[in-house]
Amino acid sequence: MAKKTDTMLASFVIGPGRMKTERTSRPGPGDGLLLKTLYSGVCGSDRRQLASAEAGQRKIIGHEIVGEVVDASGQFAEWIGRRVGIAPRLGCGTCGPCRRGHPNICDKLRVIGYQLPGGFAQFVAVPGEAVVKGNVVELPAQLDAKVAALAEPLSCVLNGLGLSHVEPDTSVLVLGAGPMGQMFVIMARSLTKDVYVVEPESKRRDFALAHGAKEAFASESGGMPAADITIVACSSPQAYELALRAAPPGGTIDLFGGLADGIKIDSNYLHYRQLTLHGTAGSTPAQFAHALRALTENPKLADIITDVIPFRALPSAMSSIEGTGKLSLKTLLDPWKL
Ligand SMILES: [Zn+2]
Ligand SMILES: [Zn+2]
Repeated sequence: MAKKTDTMLASFVIGPGRMKTERTSRPGPGDGLLLKTLYSGVCGSDRRQLASAEAGQRKIIGHEIVGEVVDASGQFAEWIGRRVGIAPRLGCGTCGPCRRGHPNICDKLRVIGYQLPGGFAQFVAVPGEAVVKGNVVELPAQLDAKVAALAEPLSCVLNGLGLSHVEPDTSVLVLGAGPMGQMFVIMARSLTKDVYVVEPESKRRDFALAHGAKEAFASESGGMPAADITIVACSSPQAYELALRAAPPGGTIDLFGGLADGIKIDSNYLHYRQLTLHGTAGSTPAQFAHALRALTENPKLADIITDVIPFRALPSAMSSIEGTGKLSLKTLLDPWKL
């Protein structure tokens, strides 16, 4: 029988909507690093991965990983003992998007927590290629590992804001004030005073108002302004439609939240109002490093973590997005709590 030190607990996706936590063999560092997972964020895209899983599959997901390097191949020995965050998207380095500095949209993209085993486990093996490409970033000494688990989602927000060109006098409307929407509010507020939110849940509106939103609306009919930049920060087809309908002439829209099934768009919305429409997906290692710095500079971001859960609570956290009554924003798995 394997010794307990050769094994670890991991949560496997085993079929559509089905997860199972069990003891499995512990990976080695391979040609890269072995991390002891400190925290792994639970993301809306994990819920979509779980829902669309194939029967009989067995994989470890989780792409918002902070860990401590506990073993390494010889060439990376100096990393042992460091606390690191992982930018999970591995570009090929040679395709057009990679050469233009956008490995997040690589033609042959591989992502830790998707194609490669992820962070819903006590240990994660990180390929050497990820170290070489800058996907492994040491945490700033003063940054709490828990807060650092926000770096991956925050890096995606920075990608969205970067393409949206927020100036000091632009107004920004954020549709959806879940964890991603709240990050957009806090980061946009550092660029402009005019940040608005549409969010049906009152506790989330209150949180956004306390974290920099100028006004928060329960729905479109509540007097919601047409803003220069509209960010769809939720996974709702209705929000996509609202963004297109509500954008003023010359406006910009970022389709940030992913949808299981996309919507059809009336091109006349774009043409006659001269709108700029773009999507953003994921982030680059450089944006990940920027996110870690932003987390040290902006302590309000840490408030977005509302729940730290043990393994046994992971299936229920994965099945519900909304809290029941209490404010629920970002949930982190602590894989050392059972
Ligand atoms: Zn995520
Ligand atoms: Zn590529």
